[in-house]
Amino acid sequence: MNHISTLPLQPAAKLAGTLTTCPYCGVGCGVRATVNGDGQVDIAGDETHASNLGRLCVKGSALGETVALDGRLLYPQMRSADQQSMQRASWDDALDKVAHGFRSIIEQHGPDSVALYVSGQLLTEDYYVANKLMKGYIGSANIDTNSRLCMSSAVAGHKRAFGADLVPVCYEDLELADLVVLVGSNTAWCHPILFQRIARIRETRPQMKLVVIDPRRTATCELADLHLPLKAGSDVWLFNGLLSFLARNGAVDKDFVAEHTNGMAAALETAEADCADLAAVAKICKLDPQDLLTFYQWFADNEKVVSAFSQGVNQSSSGTDKVNSIINCHLLTGRIGKPGMGPFSITGQPNAMGGREVGGLANMLAAHMELDNPQHRATVQTYWQSPQMAERPGLKAVDLFQAIEAGRVKAVWIMATNPVVSLPDADQVQRALKKCELVVISDIIEKTDTNAFAHVLLPALGWGEKDGTVTSSERRISRQRAFLPAPGEARADWRIICQVAQRMGYDGFDFNSAHQVFDEHAGLSAYRNGGNGGADGDGPHRVFNLGGLRGMDRAQFDGMQPVQWPLPADAAGERQGTARLFADGRFAHADGRARFIATAPRAPRHAVDGDYPLSLNTGRVRDQWHTMTRTGKSPRLADHVPESFIDMHPQDALLYGVREGMLARVSSQWGEMVAKVQHGGGIARGSLFVPIHWNRQSASDARVGALVNPVVDPVSGEPEFKHTPVRVEEFAVAWYGFVLSRAQPVLDDVTHWTRIQGRSFHRYELAGRSPIADHGAWAARLLGVDAADADWLEYQDGSAGIYRAVHVVDDRIDACVFLSPRPDLPSRAWLASLFLKERLEDADRVGLLIGQPIAKGADTGPTVCSCFSVGRNTICDAVRKQGLTTVAQVTGCLKAGGNCGSCVPEIKKLLTEMLQEEVS
Ligand code: SF4
Repeated sequence: MNHISTLPLQPAAKLAGTLTTCPYCGVGCGVRATVNGDGQVDIAGDETHASNLGRLCVKGSALGETVALDGRLLYPQMRSADQQSMQRASWDDALDKVAHGFRSIIEQHGPDSVALYVSGQLLTEDYYVANKLMKGYIGSANIDTNSRLCMSSAVAGHKRAFGADLVPVCYEDLELADLVVLVGSNTAWCHPILFQRIARIRETRPQMKLVVIDPRRTATCELADLHLPLKAGSDVWLFNGLLSFLARNGAVDKDFVAEHTNGMAAALETAEADCADLAAVAKICKLDPQDLLTFYQWFADNEKVVSAFSQGVNQSSSGTDKVNSIINCHLLTGRIGKPGMGPFSITGQPNAMGGREVGGLANMLAAHMELDNPQHRATVQTYWQSPQMAERPGLKAVDLFQAIEAGRVKAVWIMATNPVVSLPDADQVQRALKKCELVVISDIIEKTDTNAFAHVLLPALGWGEKDGTVTSSERRISRQRAFLPAPGEARADWRIICQVAQRMGYDGFDFNSAHQVFDEHAGLSAYRNGGNGGADGDGPHRVFNLGGLRGMDRAQFDGMQPVQWPLPADAAGERQGTARLFADGRFAHADGRARFIATAPRAPRHAVDGDYPLSLNTGRVRDQWHTMTRTGKSPRLADHVPESFIDMHPQDALLYGVREGMLARVSSQWGEMVAKVQHGGGIARGSLFVPIHWNRQSASDARVGALVNPVVDPVSGEPEFKHTPVRVEEFAVAWYGFVLSRAQPVLDDVTHWTRIQGRSFHRYELAGRSPIADHGAWAARLLGVDAADADWLEYQDGSAGIYRAVHVVDDRIDACVFLSPRPDLPSRAWLASLFLKERLEDADRVGLLIGQPIAKGADTGPTVCSCFSVGRNTICDAVRKQGLTTVAQVTGCLKAGGNCGSCVPEIKKLLTEMLQEEVS
């Protein structure tokens, strides 16, 4: 192992503000948060944090806009006796209800009749006590996490290949590599700071190559040397083909394979069976054979290769095999354990890794120990001194909610997640929760799609209020530190769990701080962990070891610097982290050897057919996070992609009778949703892409989880979010419209709506099936305005069906509504800018009446750069007028792209399109 010299217990450098960690993606960027004199939170990147060195993407930069208390769950609530409403309750009553409810159901039906469903948003300390309660005290392994949905295939692949869930590489390896392969990862949008690290290093090392393997032409592809738009689900063919190519072209590291691995012959035989012929592989993957050959040749020729993969690989019914087919290629070439090379699972959530470390998945124990290993069970039980220990894996996420609907699980406690939105077949989750005897939910938000089914709601602390640790994709443990007071009666998740456990009569939960929980967690990782200087080394060696962090006092824990595990307590008592694993060629299997896995390729479980002829792919957009409970509060983040959408190929749109900008319905065997059609996402024919974020709180009917097939990978249990057979059809409406209003409008006779956070106004995109008989009366009712008011300005073209109205109060715009039979409505960016004016000018009033701005440049267009609020029209104007040809010139002129860099690929794409237009 390569040791780095970071000393984790040095106090943080003396800088203003509190050093903490971003709560969004698995990059784990350090954040400096300062509460200013107005009570606002200023956010900056932590220059001392090794993950980001001071940079933040736009989501991280906007964290200060998401900490206001509007919409927060601030006190416990319990369902009323008539079941009709939720009512405020005391903590004592709520905790008693949970403890007594769980205990009585366990007494009647056994430990497997209850379950916890937790989240990668929890801190490691929360996760630790939840897992301890369930597996060591209740005696069931029915605890699973929403991380099941994003990276459990990577966990399973690591365990099969390496013997434990071990990520071999670190971020620095992406910078040291000569070839970076991004597989199923829109890194530019989903892990922006990591992508910026790659982009920056390429500026200094232009010979470094970037290959993107993704069915869509995403923003990440804009900087790639080669994009392989493979057919969705064909990854194993592609990597088996690569394995075969490497073997046939002299790229095998024979010594490494002989000394450090098992199973190469079987894996190679399987690969050769279907994938030895490059032309055949190219045909199956729907790739240009020359492009495929180029990739194979680059992989063979470059010693320093990092293959980074994410949800596009994991979220599949063959996700684990996809992971292993990638790892096989690194084992064959011996490209692992050395700087600049290795397979790299990039995690989605901020603490997916922390959850994995403490056994947050239903098939894991704790501290990387295994449920089906009696010695491991005894080790954990002895350390915990717990009354019992789960002996078999519990229910994984999809199975868990099916068991709830079937009545086998009668009580569930959901923490920090929104499964009615995020799970596949999400309507089934609703049915399950409706039937469940006891639904307990800990959350920071009062109204979510899932909270609507709660019997007990428990207010948890949010980011900025809670204290503990998270682990990033590169095994780096960082502190999340509180800098805001606990709002209302909210409590830390670990404390709530401990208080319920104590009421259930269990000892072992008398923690007083996250620090104490962390200390016990670190101690368990080193307990009976032989080798590497483990102080309690009377058991077999386990790589996951935090022995060097055990025994910190409170001040040391508070000052703990980000550090990568493993960091066992060595003989000298030094506390060092480990940048990369397997440098000595020893893996975690009992014989110390890595395993090749024979991965026979197979297609997604459900094929498209005549009824459902298109393949639905789901994923994220750049500026939103999960179900938008936090990012949805930021007007800046809302500007980039304000509504959900159905991205599809223009020829498919023509074929299925839908049009860009108009609403369409997508349906599968499991459910349906409605959104506007768009093109330009670089999607192949036969596929659709819909984002995951929108839900019933933000849109009437755009919850894509309802459509997704509940098919899972047989090894990992991870759902197949990247492929569901669907059909698309016109969703006919009589009118389209939108409203911007300082007061909350009253939606009436609206068929479809999306709510968008504006700067000092509410924005709704609207559409209706019923024709509006009296536009004026309808609009006045919508906005609560007296239609006789002198400042109520209207324009109507009855024959064209166009209507617009503006309400002006004290020379300021107070509200406006625009309606049309078609979706070609005026620019919202221009209208939004009028809400920032203290006084409307005459030109503004004229513009409002004619439905377009008078002043040149007033319409900045859709946002491209969220950091500096720079719109597409502004960039296009500058490019045309000033003859800009490079992103650097655009940045120099408009600042766009000059902060977090998340929009650089979009600016580059825009420049390319404009230059092409000029040529043609
Ligand atoms: S890349 Fe962005 S979202 Fe991810 S941790 Fe860093 S600042 Fe947060």
